[in-house]
Amino acid sequence: MLDKKNTHEQDTVMSKVIYLDYNATTPIDPRVLDVMLPYLKDKYANPSSKYRFAMDIAIEVEKARSSIVKYIGANHSDEVIFTGSATESINHAIRGTIKAFPERRHIITTVVEHPAVLETCKDLERDGYQVTFLKVNENGELSVDEFKSAISKDTGIISIMHANNETGIVFPVGELAKLAKKINPDVLFHTDATQSMGKIDIDLNADEYKAIDFLSMSGHKVYAPKGIGILFTRKGARLRKFITGGHHEFNKRGGTLNVPFIVGLEKAFEIFKDELSSGKQKKLEELRDLIEKELIKKIPYMNINGKKAERLSNTTNISFDCVEGESILFQLDKMGFCISSGSACTSGSLEPSHVLRSMHVPITSAHSSLRISLGRYTTREEVLEFIAKLPEIISRLREISPFWDRNNNKPNEKAIQYG
Ligand code: PLP
Repeated sequence: MLDKKNTHEQDTVMSKVIYLDYNATTPIDPRVLDVMLPYLKDKYANPSSKYRFAMDIAIEVEKARSSIVKYIGANHSDEVIFTGSATESINHAIRGTIKAFPERRHIITTVVEHPAVLETCKDLERDGYQVTFLKVNENGELSVDEFKSAISKDTGIISIMHANNETGIVFPVGELAKLAKKINPDVLFHTDATQSMGKIDIDLNADEYKAIDFLSMSGHKVYAPKGIGILFTRKGARLRKFITGGHHEFNKRGGTLNVPFIVGLEKAFEIFKDELSSGKQKKLEELRDLIEKELIKKIPYMNINGKKAERLSNTTNISFDCVEGESILFQLDKMGFCISSGSACTSGSLEPSHVLRSMHVPITSAHSSLRISLGRYTTREEVLEFIAKLPEIISRLREISPFWDRNNNKPNEKAIQYG
């Protein structure tokens, strides 16, 4: 169960919550909330105003920005701008580049991106841009050869996610950015780091990440509130403004600064940077591995999607033959478990996950997939409870499945034909 100290009023909303969906969103860390509160109450001035009350707040915003600049290994304050979400940052990076270089008509991305990238690219495709959607293999990995051959002199921007929200698979974005620039030095490289930020130590000054021009991230995946993100834009990488308006954010994004969320985000960075250096991710990896090891022993015909690839330590994506994902989630929900059957933004549609389908996961298994994502407040007890409950649920649902051979405990002929 979520730690009562950390859940504020959550207990009044639900009697019991076992939250295993940290890739969908995270609760606000109480330490983050504490630094935000003065700015929601007394320090309300608009930081653009020209009196002392406001200018003091502007100084605090710039202090928060400078810390974030340092935390991600940027070199200049104006390389970090605050946005309303990762979706906004992504739109800004992709559309802003396209507008800055209208003669470059080609975009490269992957088939497994979050809709924030996919739908933006598809929209530009409708406007006449040519988009290459790179495929992945059954392990969820990209082909470097295909990547290299997709790049041309016409390519304006490449947008490749750092870690996948559904499977946790990590792409070697730093290496890909370097390769891209060897082929076409003018190409700009954006990465959607919404899922990796806070889970992988990212130093944009390190050789590994130096070729990345733009990076997007979101506050609500790192224990800060929903409604804040950042866009990193490397000095010299040209970008047109996306949200036009006032001259805020070095004239790169219009709109009054969201001071409480900005100071909260800075605190969230401080906390996760500290956790990354103290090896807390290792604890999550042990719990994630325990889930996989125990479930695979207890549940026949279960598959771990993307297991052979490099993955985030907090994420597992599993599927089961002959059961409906929605039915599993319904049963789990009744017991208080919060788990996704895909990305939170895409669930709600009955289509199987585009990520799993592109990894050639059979349609029946893709329909039964669960994404379990652990986080700061996940306890061993919660994980053990999940491991105890899930096999019972799967076995009960298989009992009533027309595709399950109850006598021999395996999929029947119909399942194989449908398959
Ligand atoms: N990119 C990835 C990989 C995500 O997982 C998400 C959210 O789930 C987003 C982008 C969108 O983030 P936001 O909710 O801040 O717009």
